[in-house]
Amino acid sequence: MVKHSSRIELRKSAYKSNINFIKKKIGKNVIFSSVIKANAYGHGIDVFVPMAESCGVDHFSVASAYEAWEVLQVCNPDSHIMIMGILYEDDIPWAIENNIEFYVYNYDRLSVTLAAAKKVGKPAKIHIEVETGANRTGMPKEEFSKSLTFLKNNADFLVFEGLCTHLGGAESFANNFKIEKQLKNFKTFLTKCKQKKVMPHLRHVASSAAALSIKESLYDMVRVGVAQYGFWPSPDIYYTHINQVGKNKDGALKRIITWKTDIMDTRKVNEGEFIGYGTAFQAVRKMNIAVIPLGYCNGYPRGLSNRGYVLIQGKKAPIVGLINMNLFMVDITHIPKAKVGDEVVLIGRQNNNVIHISSFTNFTNLLNNEMLSRLPASIPRKVVR
Ligand SMILES: *Cc1c(COP(=O)(O)O)cnc(C)c1O
Repeated sequence: MVKHSSRIELRKSAYKSNINFIKKKIGKNVIFSSVIKANAYGHGIDVFVPMAESCGVDHFSVASAYEAWEVLQVCNPDSHIMIMGILYEDDIPWAIENNIEFYVYNYDRLSVTLAAAKKVGKPAKIHIEVETGANRTGMPKEEFSKSLTFLKNNADFLVFEGLCTHLGGAESFANNFKIEKQLKNFKTFLTKCKQKKVMPHLRHVASSAAALSIKESLYDMVRVGVAQYGFWPSPDIYYTHINQVGKNKDGALKRIITWKTDIMDTRKVNEGEFIGYGTAFQAVRKMNIAVIPLGYCNGYPRGLSNRGYVLIQGKKAPIVGLINMNLFMVDITHIPKAKVGDEVVLIGRQNNNVIHISSFTNFTNLLNNEMLSRLPASIPRKVVR
């Protein structure tokens, strides 16, 4: 097998510990749905899903039918797959055939789904997403009552698996007034269900931030993305937690991803020479330089030009010059033993040093999620202990 220019490792022990921590927060009776859209936030669906299953996870949420298809290739037959976003009409029969659950957010979708279910000869498991104030997808209240009637009349072919909504921005306390309103609006939809005696099997609202900080948002299931990968959704949520447990700091959530490559070449550069494209970096002394075999086409942010660093032999090696499409250079003058083939850590730990994703994102204004989800699917991933 020909090698890729870099590799990603997923630490299973860290994932287990994250899951335990989150499950303790949400309690025994709340289902944990693992959100694995965007190629499992860059961690790689094909490797991440079996690892999660081996840690007891059996519910997965994705943003599109295509991602559901990817999960289906690797998951246990008993695992649940739920599409929260785009499912084209043509693909509804496929979803039903494969027991894939999906969001319905307008009335018209119900009759289309019913027809598909009848054709397939199998009930469709649907989650009605309701509009509570985020104003993206979500069924408006004007359509809700007749939708419940429709579900009641067609219960043989339409399983009311869930009633749900998405809180827009629960990670920031500045949004609390909006989140509270959304939670209140969700309750009025639930009241309607009770009045009409058409109840969903599951009610779910919370993503990571709400699951970790808003008890009344837990309901029957939570949809957790970023936290399971070991990242606090925001400083607000982190400081709330350490305040609750009375600690100064808490490493309860552990990063599971490590991103590595190797030194491709080394060279000596004289004072006054320029490194790489243009004049972005001029050597102010004699320097030793290592060439790293990846660049912005591999998801390494160009914004780290002349700013970021990598780890080599446990030491920080600063980036010199621009991040190119598939190469960049680092200063190894202070690491005289560094040589071709040495392991280079781009994200993660090496000996006593760590590169956090936040160190990237502080420089580049990328979100953690954005940086992770842009890691190309072609980078090989593997699970380590
Ligand atoms: C992405 C997403 C989630 C998970 O969000 P995190 O903040 O990563 O936990 C939950 N629900 C929906 C609808 C989403 O799109």
